Amino acid sequence: MSKTTLPWADEIRKRSESLLALRRDFHKHPELSMRETRTAEVIAERLRAAGLEVRTGLAGTGVVGVLHGEKPGPVVAWRADIDALPLDEVPDVPFKSTAPGVMHACGHDGHTAIAITLAELLAARRSELPGTAVFLFQPGEEVFGGAKPMIEAGALENPHVEQVYGLHLTTQSPAGVVSVKPGPSMASADFFNVEIRGMGGHGAFPHLSRDPITVAAHIVVGMQALVSREVPAQATAVLTVGQIESGTKHNIIPQRAWLRGSLRTYDNAVRAQLLERLGTFASRIAEAYRAEAKLQFEGEGTSPVINPADRSAFVQRCMLDELGQAQVAEGKAVMASDDMALFLEARPGCYFRVGIGPGDREPAPHHNPHFYMDEAGLPAGLRVALNVMLHALSGEG
Ligand SMILES: [Zn+2]
Ligand SMILES: [Zn+2]
Repeated sequence: MSKTTLPWADEIRKRSESLLALRRDFHKHPELSMRETRTAEVIAERLRAAGLEVRTGLAGTGVVGVLHGEKPGPVVAWRADIDALPLDEVPDVPFKSTAPGVMHACGHDGHTAIAITLAELLAARRSELPGTAVFLFQPGEEVFGGAKPMIEAGALENPHVEQVYGLHLTTQSPAGVVSVKPGPSMASADFFNVEIRGMGGHGAFPHLSRDPITVAAHIVVGMQALVSREVPAQATAVLTVGQIESGTKHNIIPQRAWLRGSLRTYDNAVRAQLLERLGTFASRIAEAYRAEAKLQFEGEGTSPVINPADRSAFVQRCMLDELGQAQVAEGKAVMASDDMALFLEARPGCYFRVGIGPGDREPAPHHNPHFYMDEAGLPAGLRVALNVMLHALSGEG
């Protein structure tokens, strides 16, 4: 394996300003999930200008760019997500969001800028390039709404993609420090709503009513026992009830109560087990209190991100080769989720992390209105991405 030495290093340097400009442009114009129209237009325009074949409108605002190298080789995809979040940006940066209530607070502006620059770099050297590079710009990652319809729309066919790679920026690592976690790397996520129907009445006479708030409380506590008593100790699951709604006054027992929560696991079998149990569990607890509970899932959720061992080892070699030991950290699994999982279920590949955190202080978490990235991490991400694509397209690894 060889480093992306000259002329690549030179070209990366030349394009680093345009990489940052592009990221700042997306940052300034964030768009919510499945409504990324301007973002998609910029992507398509840049890819066309670089000479790629471009398909738009996949899953609504998804874009696919295909770059045919002039030498034979495999078809390798690079995936980037492009959506922003419903937050009001706090940091007073010169490229602060101009869309009220919308903010790139997960780093997807950086993912998009890196992927476009990667496509431009490879396109500029098409004559030396083996294989076919496919660039997947996926909408709606934050709502787990884009990956599935994009795959169904044929994003991985014509040409038939053989491997798929991607990266997520993280403020949890110092800028430029990269890592890959083999096996389960990110959790599955499923969102559920529970409606509890009781019977309202006077707070002084609970025996004449059926109190949905007491039922809700028992369901919340009971769900924790579902994890500790039914999930094998070696496996992990997190059940969080994030919202409870009911009632109007101290002394009125309400008619209904609502819970909203999420379930996360690293294992498809544990996920299936809990998805199956949750509904019955909630309704049986309610029955014990003479009430009714109905649990419904919101959307389809997403499975865990699982990096195959050999693809992870390959990416790790590319990282060490490109950045050296000092910038490669040990990969850790996180309970966050990402629908890159669906691409990795469809094709072998790997999803790795690139640090954009401040080295000297506690960073604001992703999805926080104070989120801020150290852009010094972007060129490091681009270098690893380029190294991975060059070697994968050459059939190495
Ligand atoms: Zn996010
Ligand atoms: Zn994200």
